[in-house]
Amino acid sequence: MPIRQRKSTGNPVEINLTNVRLLLLCPENSQNPEILVKGTRMKDIIADRMRFIDASGIRKVFALAADLKDPVNLSIGQPDFDVPEKLKESAKKAIDQGWNKYSQTAGDNELRTKIAQKIQEEFGWENPGTLVTNGVSGGLLLTFMALINPGDEVIIPDPYFVIYKHVVNLLGGKCVFVDTYPDFQLPVEKISDAITEKTKLIIINSPNNPTGIVFSDESIKALAEVAAKKNIAVMSDEIYEHFCYDKSCTSIAQYYDKTILMRGFGKSYAMTGWRLGYVAVHESMKNALEEMTKIQQYTFVCAPTPFQRAAMAAFDYDVNEFVRAYKRKRDFVYESLKDTFELVRPGGAFYFFVKAPGGDGTAFVQKAIKNNVLIIPGNVFSEKDTHFRISFAASDDKLKQGVDILCDLV
Ligand code: PMP
Repeated sequence: MPIRQRKSTGNPVEINLTNVRLLLLCPENSQNPEILVKGTRMKDIIADRMRFIDASGIRKVFALAADLKDPVNLSIGQPDFDVPEKLKESAKKAIDQGWNKYSQTAGDNELRTKIAQKIQEEFGWENPGTLVTNGVSGGLLLTFMALINPGDEVIIPDPYFVIYKHVVNLLGGKCVFVDTYPDFQLPVEKISDAITEKTKLIIINSPNNPTGIVFSDESIKALAEVAAKKNIAVMSDEIYEHFCYDKSCTSIAQYYDKTILMRGFGKSYAMTGWRLGYVAVHESMKNALEEMTKIQQYTFVCAPTPFQRAAMAAFDYDVNEFVRAYKRKRDFVYESLKDTFELVRPGGAFYFFVKAPGGDGTAFVQKAIKNNVLIIPGNVFSEKDTHFRISFAASDDKLKQGVDILCDLV
């Protein structure tokens, strides 16, 4: 492309690029001319770190789905039931009683006491650290911000919940993915082999999104031993703690004090919009929690106060009825798909991670969407694109329609 420079550096320089006319302002000694186009100073206003986030996978799915009328939506990551009446009443009461101002940064004291009691009962941790967060997502962001230096490595079993990868990357950390295909169990040996001098954190998520797999007690115990030997913290995302269908779900907190425990209210009580989660740590990890609390002070400030008050009633609310209903849905979907697709029967959460016929997740999802079924390609949750995720948090009718259509596509 011919470039003609009319004036020398130090003054505005005009350059002809075939059809484009740019005026470069080059202050003396400057290596970086600012570009003026039609008198506007064009600076890249977007921070460099945003290059590390790519939301295109999910956006493409929703773009494809935009024209669908009344699709069979099996893509949703939240329960299809509504918040139980009793909890709605406590939220309304909290607002009427004036719980409408900021709470303490770390959360409402009574709620934190309840959380601490639960944690102490479950894991025997005396006086645990607690922080009420804006959903589990809020807790994840605070954890990563407080712990990860640029260049630090974070071990993440693949497939994984999307937020982990993107936030770790945003902070300049390095995701070290450990493949869990095809059974999606916790690959303790591979994790052990992936640990280096730079490993800062190991993430586990059981019951898992997107696979629905519940890691076995033995594997969690074995991971605790590996992490303890190398003195590495584990962040355990247990947002689906209540959705366990076949046996109770083990938390690594039972075996390992250097656990940063993430739990939430959104999925268990169908209140994802209330934005409530919490972080709990053993006394020996309170320094990390203090740093996270500082960041909350200067970012989210606090979780929504009336919902914090309402959430106290959640601890006494029995969700077994919902869990039984979801277990039935899990069984129905499994029985309907197992002869047509390659899939593992999930023990928890509300997802199936199914091998796409032909091994191309995106191609199969496109086909499904053309046939009015909304599902998510595996590459949104993985470095591979061989699978797709089905959420069974849908009505029985929609599930029946969905599985019938999917089976007909094969
Ligand atoms: N972790 C996992 C594994 C999830 O699936 C989700 C929500 N889909 C979150 C965290 C975030 O939950 P919240 O809505 O409480 O921020």
